[in-house]
Amino acid sequence: MSSPVNPIIVGNWKMNATIEEATTLVAQIKLRIESIKNVDTVVCPPFTALSSIQELLTNSTIGLGAQDMYHEITGAFTGEISPSMLSELCEFVILGHSERRSMFGETDQAVCNKISSALKVGLKPIMCVGETLTSRQNGNANADVQQQIILGLKNIQPIHNLVIAYEPIWAIGQGKPATPNDAQNMMSFIRKTLSLSYGESSAKSTPILYGGSVTADNVCDFLAQADIDGALVGGASLNHNTFSDLVINASNTK
Ligand code: PEP
Repeated sequence: MSSPVNPIIVGNWKMNATIEEATTLVAQIKLRIESIKNVDTVVCPPFTALSSIQELLTNSTIGLGAQDMYHEITGAFTGEISPSMLSELCEFVILGHSERRSMFGETDQAVCNKISSALKVGLKPIMCVGETLTSRQNGNANADVQQQIILGLKNIQPIHNLVIAYEPIWAIGQGKPATPNDAQNMMSFIRKTLSLSYGESSAKSTPILYGGSVTADNVCDFLAQADIDGALVGGASLNHNTFSDLVINASNTK
Protein backbone atom coordinates (compact mmCIF):
# COMPACT_ATOMS: atom_id res chain seq x y z
CA MET A 1 0.00 0.00 0.00
CA SER A 2 2.45 2.65 -1.15
CA SER A 3 -0.10 5.23 -2.15
CA PRO A 4 -3.71 5.62 -1.02
CA VAL A 5 -5.24 5.65 -4.50
CA ASN A 6 -8.49 3.88 -3.63
CA PRO A 7 -10.49 4.82 -0.56
CA ILE A 8 -10.05 2.18 2.14
CA ILE A 9 -13.14 1.06 4.03
CA VAL A 10 -12.48 -1.13 7.07
CA GLY A 11 -15.25 -2.88 9.00
CA ASN A 12 -14.46 -3.48 12.68
CA TRP A 13 -16.92 -6.07 13.92
CA LYS A 14 -15.65 -5.91 17.51
CA MET A 15 -16.89 -8.79 19.73
CA ASN A 16 -19.78 -9.69 17.44
CA ALA A 17 -20.64 -12.72 15.29
CA THR A 18 -20.22 -16.45 15.74
CA ILE A 19 -18.39 -18.28 12.97
CA GLU A 20 -21.70 -19.05 11.29
CA GLU A 21 -22.93 -15.45 11.54
CA ALA A 22 -19.59 -14.12 10.35
CA THR A 23 -19.37 -16.34 7.28
CA THR A 24 -22.98 -15.55 6.36
CA LEU A 25 -22.29 -11.82 6.68
CA VAL A 26 -19.17 -12.01 4.50
CA ALA A 27 -20.92 -14.13 1.88
CA GLN A 28 -23.69 -11.52 1.66
CA ILE A 29 -21.23 -8.60 1.49
CA LYS A 30 -19.25 -10.41 -1.20
CA LEU A 31 -22.33 -10.76 -3.38
CA ARG A 32 -22.92 -7.00 -3.32
CA ILE A 33 -19.42 -5.51 -3.52
CA GLU A 34 -17.07 -8.12 -4.94
CA SER A 35 -17.03 -6.40 -8.33
CA ILE A 36 -16.09 -2.97 -6.92
CA LYS A 37 -12.48 -2.31 -7.85
CA ASN A 38 -12.02 1.32 -6.81
CA VAL A 39 -12.48 0.79 -3.07
CA ASP A 40 -10.18 -1.31 -0.88
CA THR A 41 -12.57 -3.03 1.50
CA VAL A 42 -11.35 -4.88 4.58
CA VAL A 43 -13.36 -6.80 7.19
CA CYS A 44 -12.06 -7.40 10.72
CA PRO A 45 -14.05 -10.20 12.36
CA PRO A 46 -13.27 -11.72 15.79
CA PHE A 47 -10.24 -14.05 15.96
CA THR A 48 -12.45 -17.15 16.02
CA ALA A 49 -13.86 -16.44 12.55
CA LEU A 50 -10.61 -15.43 10.82
CA SER A 51 -9.77 -18.85 9.44
CA SER A 52 -13.22 -19.53 7.96
CA ILE A 53 -13.40 -16.06 6.48
CA GLN A 54 -9.90 -16.37 5.06
CA GLU A 55 -11.16 -19.38 3.10
CA LEU A 56 -14.25 -17.52 1.94
CA LEU A 57 -12.14 -14.60 0.77
CA THR A 58 -9.58 -16.61 -1.21
CA ASN A 59 -9.07 -14.77 -4.52
CA SER A 60 -11.47 -12.06 -3.35
CA THR A 61 -10.92 -8.32 -3.65
CA ILE A 62 -12.02 -7.97 -0.02
CA GLY A 63 -9.17 -7.91 2.50
CA LEU A 64 -9.05 -9.43 5.96
CA GLY A 65 -7.83 -8.00 9.27
CA ALA A 66 -7.76 -8.84 12.98
CA GLN A 67 -8.74 -6.50 15.80
CA ASP A 68 -5.73 -6.79 18.11
CA MET A 69 -2.69 -8.95 18.92
CA TYR A 70 0.09 -9.22 21.49
CA HIS A 71 3.55 -7.99 20.52
CA GLU A 72 5.55 -11.12 21.41
CA ILE A 73 6.05 -13.68 18.64
CA THR A 74 5.67 -16.78 20.82
CA GLY A 75 5.87 -17.84 24.47
CA ALA A 76 4.05 -18.16 27.78
CA PHE A 77 1.36 -15.53 27.28
CA THR A 78 -1.86 -17.40 28.00
CA GLY A 79 -4.78 -16.22 25.93
CA GLU A 80 -2.80 -13.98 23.61
CA ILE A 81 -2.49 -14.10 19.81
CA SER A 82 0.85 -13.35 18.18
CA PRO A 83 1.76 -11.39 15.03
CA SER A 84 3.11 -14.50 13.30
CA MET A 85 -0.13 -16.39 14.03
CA LEU A 86 -2.10 -13.56 12.44
CA SER A 87 0.20 -13.27 9.47
CA GLU A 88 -0.92 -16.79 8.43
CA LEU A 89 -4.50 -15.58 8.33
CA CYS A 90 -4.78 -11.94 7.41
CA GLU A 91 -3.12 -8.84 6.02
CA PHE A 92 -4.21 -6.13 8.49
CA VAL A 93 -4.49 -5.72 12.25
CA ILE A 94 -6.26 -2.93 14.12
CA LEU A 95 -4.03 -1.72 16.97
CA GLY A 96 -4.64 0.78 19.77
CA HIS A 97 -8.40 1.01 19.31
CA SER A 98 -9.83 3.36 21.94
CA GLU A 99 -11.77 0.46 23.47
CA ARG A 100 -8.47 -1.39 24.03
CA ARG A 101 -6.91 1.75 25.49
CA SER A 102 -9.81 2.65 27.81
CA MET A 103 -11.10 -0.81 28.86
CA PHE A 104 -7.90 -2.84 28.81
CA GLY A 105 -5.36 -0.22 29.85
CA GLU A 106 -3.40 -0.28 26.61
CA THR A 107 -0.70 2.40 26.72
CA ASP A 108 1.07 4.22 23.89
CA GLN A 109 4.14 2.08 24.66
CA ALA A 110 2.10 -1.13 24.30
CA VAL A 111 0.67 0.15 21.01
CA CYS A 112 4.18 0.98 19.82
CA ASN A 113 5.44 -2.53 20.68
CA LYS A 114 2.55 -4.05 18.77
CA ILE A 115 3.01 -1.85 15.69
CA SER A 116 6.69 -2.65 15.63
CA SER A 117 6.21 -6.42 15.75
CA ALA A 118 3.26 -6.35 13.32
CA LEU A 119 5.43 -4.59 10.74
CA LYS A 120 8.25 -7.09 11.32
CA VAL A 121 6.07 -10.02 10.23
CA GLY A 122 4.55 -8.14 7.29
CA LEU A 123 1.18 -7.30 8.83
CA LYS A 124 -0.28 -3.89 8.03
CA PRO A 125 -1.21 -2.16 11.29
CA ILE A 126 -4.25 0.11 11.40
CA MET A 127 -3.15 2.37 14.25
CA CYS A 128 -6.08 4.07 16.02
CA VAL A 129 -5.69 7.47 17.63
CA GLY A 130 -8.26 9.95 18.91
CA GLU A 131 -9.10 12.36 21.68
CA THR A 132 -11.73 12.26 24.42
CA LEU A 133 -14.55 14.80 24.58
CA THR A 134 -12.89 16.54 27.53
CA SER A 135 -9.66 16.82 25.62
CA ARG A 136 -11.47 18.45 22.70
CA GLN A 137 -13.46 20.77 24.94
CA ASN A 138 -10.28 21.86 26.72
CA GLY A 139 -8.50 22.59 23.46
CA ASN A 140 -6.04 19.69 23.90
CA ALA A 141 -7.19 17.50 21.02
CA ASN A 142 -4.26 18.20 18.69
CA ALA A 143 -1.65 17.81 21.42
CA ASP A 144 -3.19 14.55 22.67
CA VAL A 145 -3.46 12.99 19.22
CA GLN A 146 0.05 14.15 18.36
CA GLN A 147 1.37 12.49 21.51
CA GLN A 148 -0.36 9.20 20.61
CA ILE A 149 1.27 9.32 17.17
CA ILE A 150 4.74 10.24 18.40
CA LEU A 151 4.82 7.70 21.26
CA GLY A 152 3.00 4.99 19.31
CA LEU A 153 5.49 5.22 16.43
CA LYS A 154 8.64 5.80 18.50
CA ASN A 155 11.69 4.29 16.77
CA ILE A 156 9.48 2.80 14.06
CA GLN A 157 10.96 3.19 10.58
CA PRO A 158 9.81 2.96 7.80
CA ILE A 159 6.02 3.36 7.87
CA HIS A 160 5.10 2.33 4.36
CA ASN A 161 2.75 -0.47 5.49
CA LEU A 162 1.06 1.63 8.15
CA VAL A 163 -2.54 2.87 8.11
CA ILE A 164 -3.71 5.44 10.66
CA ALA A 165 -7.31 5.73 11.82
CA TYR A 166 -8.34 8.98 13.47
CA GLU A 167 -11.30 8.15 15.69
CA PRO A 168 -12.49 10.89 18.05
CA ILE A 169 -13.67 8.84 21.03
CA TRP A 170 -16.77 10.99 21.50
CA ALA A 171 -17.94 10.11 17.98
CA ILE A 172 -17.60 6.31 18.23
CA GLY A 173 -20.87 4.40 18.39
CA GLN A 174 -22.86 7.56 19.11
CA GLY A 175 -24.56 8.20 15.80
CA LYS A 176 -22.96 11.66 16.05
CA PRO A 177 -19.90 11.88 13.83
CA ALA A 178 -17.38 14.69 13.78
CA THR A 179 -18.09 17.24 11.10
CA PRO A 180 -16.15 16.47 7.92
CA ASN A 181 -14.40 19.81 8.37
CA ASP A 182 -13.29 19.07 11.96
CA ALA A 183 -12.13 15.61 10.88
CA GLN A 184 -10.22 17.11 7.95
CA ASN A 185 -8.50 19.65 10.24
CA MET A 186 -7.27 16.92 12.57
CA MET A 187 -6.25 14.63 9.76
CA SER A 188 -4.27 17.33 8.03
CA PHE A 189 -2.56 17.94 11.39
CA ILE A 190 -1.81 14.19 11.67
CA ARG A 191 -0.25 14.25 8.21
CA LYS A 192 1.90 17.23 9.20
CA THR A 193 2.99 15.38 12.33
CA LEU A 194 3.97 12.35 10.21
CA SER A 195 5.77 14.62 7.81
CA LEU A 196 7.99 16.03 10.57
CA SER A 197 9.25 12.54 11.47
CA TYR A 198 9.13 10.71 8.16
CA GLY A 199 9.19 13.36 5.42
CA GLU A 200 6.48 14.63 3.16
CA SER A 201 6.43 11.72 0.76
CA SER A 202 5.89 9.07 3.48
CA ALA A 203 3.28 11.28 5.14
CA LYS A 204 1.44 11.71 1.86
CA SER A 205 1.40 8.01 1.08
CA THR A 206 0.21 6.92 4.54
CA PRO A 207 -3.55 6.31 4.38
CA ILE A 208 -5.43 8.13 7.13
CA LEU A 209 -8.97 6.90 7.81
CA TYR A 210 -11.72 8.64 9.72
CA GLY A 211 -13.74 6.59 12.22
CA GLY A 212 -16.75 7.51 14.34
CA SER A 213 -20.38 6.95 13.31
CA VAL A 214 -19.64 6.62 9.60
CA THR A 215 -22.64 5.43 7.56
CA ALA A 216 -23.64 5.06 3.93
CA ASP A 217 -25.24 8.50 4.21
CA ASN A 218 -22.20 10.43 5.39
CA VAL A 219 -19.22 8.49 3.97
CA CYS A 220 -19.03 10.61 0.81
CA ASP A 221 -18.81 13.84 2.84
CA PHE A 222 -15.78 12.46 4.67
CA LEU A 223 -14.11 11.04 1.57
CA ALA A 224 -14.50 14.39 -0.18
CA GLN A 225 -11.99 15.91 2.29
CA ALA A 226 -8.40 16.27 1.11
CA ASP A 227 -6.74 14.27 3.90
CA ILE A 228 -9.37 11.58 4.43
CA ASP A 229 -8.38 8.39 2.63
CA GLY A 230 -11.10 6.11 3.93
CA ALA A 231 -13.15 5.08 6.94
CA LEU A 232 -13.01 2.71 9.90
CA VAL A 233 -16.56 1.58 10.46
CA GLY A 234 -18.01 -0.10 13.56
CA GLY A 235 -21.81 -0.34 13.84
CA ALA A 236 -22.57 0.02 10.13
CA SER A 237 -20.21 -2.86 9.27
CA LEU A 238 -22.34 -5.42 11.11
CA ASN A 239 -25.17 -5.51 8.60
CA HIS A 240 -24.58 -6.58 5.01
CA ASN A 241 -26.90 -3.91 3.59
CA THR A 242 -25.55 -0.95 5.56
CA PHE A 243 -21.93 -1.98 4.94
CA SER A 244 -22.39 -2.77 1.24
CA ASP A 245 -24.29 0.50 0.68
CA LEU A 246 -21.47 2.35 2.41
CA VAL A 247 -18.83 0.73 0.16
CA ILE A 248 -20.94 1.35 -2.97
CA ASN A 249 -21.35 5.03 -2.05
CA ALA A 250 -17.60 5.26 -1.37
CA SER A 251 -16.94 3.84 -4.81
CA ASN A 252 -18.83 6.77 -6.32
CA THR A 253 -16.86 9.40 -4.43
CA LYS A 254 -13.14 9.41 -5.16
C1 PEP B 1 -15.16 2.03 15.90
O1 PEP B 1 -15.44 1.49 16.95
O2 PEP B 1 -14.02 1.92 15.44
C2 PEP B 1 -16.18 2.80 15.21
C3 PEP B 1 -15.80 3.68 14.33
O3 PEP B 1 -17.49 2.56 15.56
P1 PEP B 1 -18.80 3.27 14.94
O4 PEP B 1 -18.67 3.28 13.46
O5 PEP B 1 -19.93 2.42 15.42
O6 PEP B 1 -18.84 4.66 15.50
